[in-house]
Amino acid sequence: MQPISQSASAPSQDTGPVTDSDTGNGGGDTLPPARKYFSGTAGDRLAWDDAARLDRLQYTVDQARGAPVYKDRLQGLKVHTLEDLASLPFTFKSDLKGHPAEAFLACPKEKVWHFHESFGTTGSPVPGWYSLDDIEVEIDVIDRWLAEFGPGKVVMNRYPYAFPVPAQLVETAVRLMGGTLIPTSNMTYNVGFMRVLRLLEQRSVNVVTGMPLEAILLKETALQLGMNVRDAFPSLEAFAFAGRILTPSWKGSMEDDWGCTVRNLYGCTEGGPFATSCEHGHLHLHEQFFVFEIVDPETRQPLLEDAPVGTLVATTLGREAQPMIRYYTDDLVRVRPGPCPCGSPTRAIEVLGRAGDLIKFGSTEVTNFDLEEEILQWTREFQSNVFFVIITSRGFLVRVEAREPGKVSASEGSRRLTDRLGVPVRVEVLPRGQLINHVSLVTSPAVFKPRTVSDHRVEKRKVINLSGGLIDWWAEVTVKHVLQLMVKGVRDFFAGWRIRLFG
Ligand SMILES: [Zn+2]
Repeated sequence: MQPISQSASAPSQDTGPVTDSDTGNGGGDTLPPARKYFSGTAGDRLAWDDAARLDRLQYTVDQARGAPVYKDRLQGLKVHTLEDLASLPFTFKSDLKGHPAEAFLACPKEKVWHFHESFGTTGSPVPGWYSLDDIEVEIDVIDRWLAEFGPGKVVMNRYPYAFPVPAQLVETAVRLMGGTLIPTSNMTYNVGFMRVLRLLEQRSVNVVTGMPLEAILLKETALQLGMNVRDAFPSLEAFAFAGRILTPSWKGSMEDDWGCTVRNLYGCTEGGPFATSCEHGHLHLHEQFFVFEIVDPETRQPLLEDAPVGTLVATTLGREAQPMIRYYTDDLVRVRPGPCPCGSPTRAIEVLGRAGDLIKFGSTEVTNFDLEEEILQWTREFQSNVFFVIITSRGFLVRVEAREPGKVSASEGSRRLTDRLGVPVRVEVLPRGQLINHVSLVTSPAVFKPRTVSDHRVEKRKVINLSGGLIDWWAEVTVKHVLQLMVKGVRDFFAGWRIRLFG
């Protein structure tokens, strides 16, 4: 493992500050209007050498003392060298959940531009305060990750606008770089998958940002409509995903499906964008914006160089509103050996999942990363990436959809996965539509603007009360859809019966 202090080499050519000529924005009066809000100097503050990193770290520690939770914790502690960081206390997720959000706010409220919260999928959501300066730094990361945001490029932003931070960062980055934004938050009723497919085609979208598995659902929706996504959207250049880690086979299978590049961002609302993938698909740590430590999950001591897996600990460099000191992410990571062909001076990692998500069977431990990667390496052989894993007391039940189930050997899949994972695996091969409900993909509630007057001379809608004037549920349902739902219900019943027998 490369020590942090040795990672401070000169940035590669593609990591220099973003200039107007880089973005093709020209200069002076031709700058996109959003530029006036930002200094455009985030790139100038990159902390690459040890002296600059120490300077940013000292700023961070001093700034953190302004947050109530750090005021006592950091009392009397000083950082004279980068190594001194190891003497500071960790910040755990439980700290974030156990205090009011204001306990982590380190600057005056007048300087706060955004407040966000994580989804809260593992309990209470955790907070993220951002000043304008903080947002600018994060946008700098997005700029470098996605050069496609420039003038003339069309970006569909499917990140949910409430409540984590990526949607707003992407929106601001697109405005800053001069691209065209189509905001279609995936958690809004009135932009279902069918509408997304229509927009991709009609607006010649170049980049889609959002949650990774949506690429699977969109592909399945298109298949249901008789479309092949590889041919239907010639303008599409890239998916830019965050919110879940994609293993190499996840990424590869989506690229096979769509014929475009898939990129990944790893980070969190409370910490920021820790890493983004390069053109080779490797997640590079943003060591210019953070000091990263990789520690033993048991002892919490720094890992030896040859240790395979450790927990990522991140300290923000220069964050104003919510500095994080030694944030213990609980994510297990594996550092990729050797330099990356992309030339980046920063370490590349694989994120294996949360330590608490390790699946234990006797003496065997399986990470989510390895589980999904092994399954997908097999399912890609028959062009499928639709699967679902059920953990039972006897092992894993892996249910996989295949376009031609009769040509896929479940017993061979069971043997192969059992060998690779070291846990008993039973595979079920199912026809399409058994794991993904195709009916729900093409039917979604349509939300209308609230109204108090309804014209009954118009055929389509008959509003009879106020709630009917707000939402039309299942607006596109037909008799065929209802019959399909009924058939699916019967199938699901018997599927559940099979699972009970197995478990
Ligand atoms: Zn790389």
